[in-house]
Formats: sequence, structure tokens, C-alpha cells
Amino acid sequence: MEFNPNAKLDSSQLQPSSGGGGGGVALGGGLGLIVMILGLIFGFNPGDIMGGVPSNAGNNSAASNQYEHCQTGADVQADRECRWVAYVNSVQSYWNTQFQQGQYKPAPTVPFTGAVNTACGAANSQVGPFYCPADQKVYIDTEFINQLLQQLGAQGGYSAEAYIIAHEYGHHIQTLTGQLQKVQSAGNQTGPDSPQVRLEVQADCYAGVWFKNSTSDPNSPIAKVTQDDLNRIADAAAAVGDDRIQASTAGQVNPETWTHGSAKMRQNWLGKGFTSGDPNVCSQAFTAQDLEA
Ligand SMILES: [Zn+2]
Repeated sequence: MEFNPNAKLDSSQLQPSSGGGGGGVALGGGLGLIVMILGLIFGFNPGDIMGGVPSNAGNNSAASNQYEHCQTGADVQADRECRWVAYVNSVQSYWNTQFQQGQYKPAPTVPFTGAVNTACGAANSQVGPFYCPADQKVYIDTEFINQLLQQLGAQGGYSAEAYIIAHEYGHHIQTLTGQLQKVQSAGNQTGPDSPQVRLEVQADCYAGVWFKNSTSDPNSPIAKVTQDDLNRIADAAAAVGDDRIQASTAGQVNPETWTHGSAKMRQNWLGKGFTSGDPNVCSQAFTAQDLEA
């Protein structure tokens, strides 16, 4: 992935976190654990996330924006931390074009380390990056993602990180369209054809759509997406399939408990999004008989 050095970045789309902080998370050595956590990385699990008690989220005035110096695509070369601003800006700028004027509601990303307070309750790194519908914000522990991707052998590439961000913004789109609320009100069924899995593969599809369109705007901070990037994204999508995670952590696969879909489903819908570049294709995630086809 290459960045456009002249593209303007808007660091205000990243917000300082409130509460939590400090305390690094001990990363166990086993691949099983890593894969399990990677599954959660893409995790939006209504059962886990939705029930939280509103806390003092939003009380951010004391903290300063650590990304303020990220002003152009060239700054990503100078300071790798600025890449998060580029991903968030690019994803939101694309989705802004897909809604009628003024209808897209921007959602900030809140980077945090260790723990964070959100309107969905307190969270720590172990829940992985997530989207909180109650405050419409994306939460990411950037250091934690770095460590995980390194251990997965995906370091040095930007694309898997961008996929994580794009997937979480997929849940924001679902909130704006009302799809997420529909699934939520239907309860937390699991299983290969469950609404929950369909919600997740749709978010993967939206991520694919953004990847396809990420370089089309000349003002986009993303200048180039390579075949290597696409391979890494496809690998990442498969690595977080419920079947892969269950096989490596439990030694057996139990489709009835799936919440995010199989490796094949996730790759399939990411691919549908990327191939078509059309978000309307992603609505088929709720009508398709066979999510692997
Ligand atoms: Zn998700």
C-alpha cells in the first residue's frame, strides 16, 4: 500500500481516549491464543459489547490529540503512526460519497492502550478492535494490533490493518442503515446462516468495497493497493474465520456457535465487495442461501 504524499490528512477524526490507559496486556506465546484474539479483532459481538453500562465516555477534554502532527500523506512516511489517520480518513471519505449529501455521519476512531471507557462499557485490549453503536465510535488498541499482526507474520504491510479499520467502519455503515439494529433486535442467534454471521460478512464485504475504491479519489491518502496487499487481506480474512479459530483453539469445529462465519465465507464476501466495488452487492449477505458460494 502506498500513500499520496500530497493528500491532506484530518487528524480530528481520531479522538483521544478517556479512562483506562496504562497497563500493557500480556501476550501469551501460543498461536492458538493469537488466532483466538485475531478472531476478536474483527469482533463485533452484540452479546459482549452491547450490554455495557454507559460510563464517562466522551470526557476527553484533558487528553491531547497525539495525531495532530499528521497533516499530509508524506507524514505517514515520516511517522508510521500517522497511517491510522490515513486509513480512517480514506474509509470515511469514501462512505461520505455513498450517502446523500449530509447523510453520512462521521464516526471518530479512538485509539487506546490497555483499556478504555466507552458508551458500551469498559473494554480492554482483549476484546480487540471494536465498534460501539451506542456512541458510534471505533476503538482500536494500535500497539496490540501491531503485536498481533507481527506474530501472524503480516508485519510490514499496511493492508491487514486497513482491513481491520474498514471492517469496523462497516459496522458503522450498518448502524446508519439500520441493519445492525435489526440484527440486534432479533437476538443473538449463532450459526453459519445466523443474522450475526451475515452482519459480519457484510462488514467484510463493505471493507472490500472500500479497498476497491480507496485510490479512485485523487485526494485520497491511499495512492496504491498492490497484489501483495490483496493477498495479505485475503489471508487475514481466512485467518479470522470461525472454523479456523475453533480448529486451532478447541481442536474441533462447531458451526452452531459461529458468530463471524467460516474462513471461506469471510474471504468470499470480502472478495464480492472488492470485485464489484459496489456496496449494494453487500446487501445480498442477508439474502444469500449459501454464504460460501
Ligand atoms: Zn465485526
